[in-house]
Amino acid sequence: MDGNAKPDFGRPKLQLPHSPEELSKSQVLRGLSALHHQQQQPKTPIPQSPAVPPSNHTDPLYFPPPQSSGSSGVPSPATPSPSGPQSPDKVHNLPQELLDAGWRRFWSRREGKEYFYNKFTKQSLWDQPPIGSPVGATRHDPLGIQIDLPAGADPNANAASLDSSGSGGVKRRHSTQEEPLSPSLKTADLKGPFWDFTLMTNAQIYERSPCKLPPPHNDTELLRANLTNRLRMQYQELCSHRESINAPKESFNRWLMERKVIDKGLDPMLPSNCNPVVSPSMMREIMSDIPVKLYRPKMNNDARLLLSKYTESAMKMVEKRSVTPESRKVVKWNADDTFRWLRTQPYSSIDDYMKRLAHLKEECGPHLCAAAKSSVEGICTKMYNLSCEAVKRLHSKHWELLKEHQIEEPPETDKAPPKKKYQCYAIQMMVPSPRLPNVDVQEDGEMTVLRYNNGDRLKISKQHLKKLDLLYRIHCREDPFRHNFLPRVWCLLRRYQTYFGTGESEGHSQQGALPARVLKTLSEQFGVTFEWFASPLNCYFKQYCSAFPDTDGYFGSRGPMLDFHPFSGSFEANPPFGEELMESMVRHFEKLLGGTTEPMSITVFIPDWRNPVPEALRMLEASRFKRRQVTFPAFEHEYRSGAQHYCQSSSVHIKAVHGTIVMFLQNDAGFKIWGPNEKKVRALLDAFQMGNEEALNNSHRTPQRRDSKIRKIDLEKETEDATNNQPSSSSSSSSVPLKSEDFKAAESKPD
Ligand code: SAH
Repeated sequence: MDGNAKPDFGRPKLQLPHSPEELSKSQVLRGLSALHHQQQQPKTPIPQSPAVPPSNHTDPLYFPPPQSSGSSGVPSPATPSPSGPQSPDKVHNLPQELLDAGWRRFWSRREGKEYFYNKFTKQSLWDQPPIGSPVGATRHDPLGIQIDLPAGADPNANAASLDSSGSGGVKRRHSTQEEPLSPSLKTADLKGPFWDFTLMTNAQIYERSPCKLPPPHNDTELLRANLTNRLRMQYQELCSHRESINAPKESFNRWLMERKVIDKGLDPMLPSNCNPVVSPSMMREIMSDIPVKLYRPKMNNDARLLLSKYTESAMKMVEKRSVTPESRKVVKWNADDTFRWLRTQPYSSIDDYMKRLAHLKEECGPHLCAAAKSSVEGICTKMYNLSCEAVKRLHSKHWELLKEHQIEEPPETDKAPPKKKYQCYAIQMMVPSPRLPNVDVQEDGEMTVLRYNNGDRLKISKQHLKKLDLLYRIHCREDPFRHNFLPRVWCLLRRYQTYFGTGESEGHSQQGALPARVLKTLSEQFGVTFEWFASPLNCYFKQYCSAFPDTDGYFGSRGPMLDFHPFSGSFEANPPFGEELMESMVRHFEKLLGGTTEPMSITVFIPDWRNPVPEALRMLEASRFKRRQVTFPAFEHEYRSGAQHYCQSSSVHIKAVHGTIVMFLQNDAGFKIWGPNEKKVRALLDAFQMGNEEALNNSHRTPQRRDSKIRKIDLEKETEDATNNQPSSSSSSSSVPLKSEDFKAAESKPD
């Protein structure tokens, strides 16, 4: 059994005693409406299991089941009663070993006798299984339910399907409408155009504590969105009033990302407990736009204008702010000199203007930074304090809301789980979730639109909704009738939109994904089964890390990457462009690779920025675990857009405007299995070529090699060049450092 396939602890027994074959539709509907009725009662806690992996299993393939944590002060899940002539007690009237192994006792009305059913393996037996017998040793299968699903498919997942929403024909409806039961996960669906959920994880971890965050709720998510939007506006106002600049594009997003590297606060998204309070990333980005934001002009006139604007603003700054006499003197002298030069050079080339600007920036920059330092620190501190206030409000509102459902905050405990090995499993929530409010669903061409409380229309492509449906069915065991599915999809969309912002193409660069064919090749050639950086929207595998454990755990996330500590497995990492996060990522990888003798391999994709070289790239190139490095030239490979889940399918593929470096980090055992030899790396190069996605989708074969410069790359030379730290052609052309917004839609994919 796949380590990810979850047992259905806490599922209503409606489902347990019957195979889909045995359960008539009317019985199902009766059961559904009973459950529905029960869940309609206002403010009644919905039975769910706070999930704590058990400590009495040694099988690494065993998926730790959730347990109720009566001692934690969290309400215990109500035990659903089975239909049929049995009492709930009889169901559990078995030796503890068998109960722990997932066995339950049921009554078959068809045969008029007892049978035994294993909720983990879906085995059914007429006779009580002997204690200690290996799972699968005897197969009588009275229910006839031993369908052979592919590795990774959760045989539990015969809960209600998404009806037509996954396949396209969504009618306007409320999320509370009962969904018809779907027979089971269809094997064919587990492989989609940009996902493959048949691939079983090879990432192994030690048992982890469940996530203590409160489960997402639509009302608090809405509040988080409003508070965050207000923070964005306040940031803009602070930058504009204090520094006369616009808030640097994406710098709020990178601030969130950077703060989360060190934050120990209470909110999954907003920082509230950081040391230092002043964010280096926010500080850096504001400083780099002072006194004016620089850009690469296309026309001579623009270049001239930019130079004179910079000169004028620099001059004003030293006149208005308290600076040392030395700084004032240097800046004034350089400004006067530049004005003189501008007067004598009315028709210079762009290059000349830009050279002059670079020189001016070099001379005056440090003095201007010193002049602005305390004011910019003030902006960073103010933003942090505003965020702390927002988190306080959110936290108390969230628990107030949960308390209305008799769900209490769990007490603090430092108890670490015992050190047991497991195949990695999705985040388990400690706190049960209430029944979530309704969400409206509408069809809009290729898209499905979700709305809560007549608010914003959140769009998601039907393909992506289908993908979420599959992930939910594979991973979420505490909502068998899917009442919370659409409200949770809404929370997920809301969270990501809040996180990445709503400006045009804002946040896209932080979510650009490798094309499916690249991930397919990585899994075939390098045994990769796991993405270190993903979201339920852009993951390819069903096991992945993501920024938000609370919204994403129901869809299979293993939580934020810095909190995930595997000791074995083959991984891919395509991080968002946040310098601090990327640096922490490298340190994390080094620690993991150095801390295990079991096979571990991490294939990292990172932009080929050379001017200056980001610290993370420098660390990767110097890593003792680096086995090889190759570079894909700019404009010759593509990514899937960060807007892939709501843009038109024709604009999903986007040319990369910078080179991408692929770095193979492996320990010795990992190198033995997944070492990047010539053949494997060639296959990867081919997969990264542009324009082969359809070929892959249509044929599920490795795409044909086409004529491309990529073919001509001398791999050995690539490694050598990179090791010698040669500047790459893609980035050496500019004297202004490239930032991640350079990674934007240059062109949509050609046919
Ligand atoms: N899974 C795709 C896309 C990666 S884009 C691929 O591997 O090609 C980077 C993703 O990292 C984004 O979805 C972003 O939300 C996510 N992310 C941001 N911070 C993260 C964190 N701390 N841990 C894990 N993922 C994170």
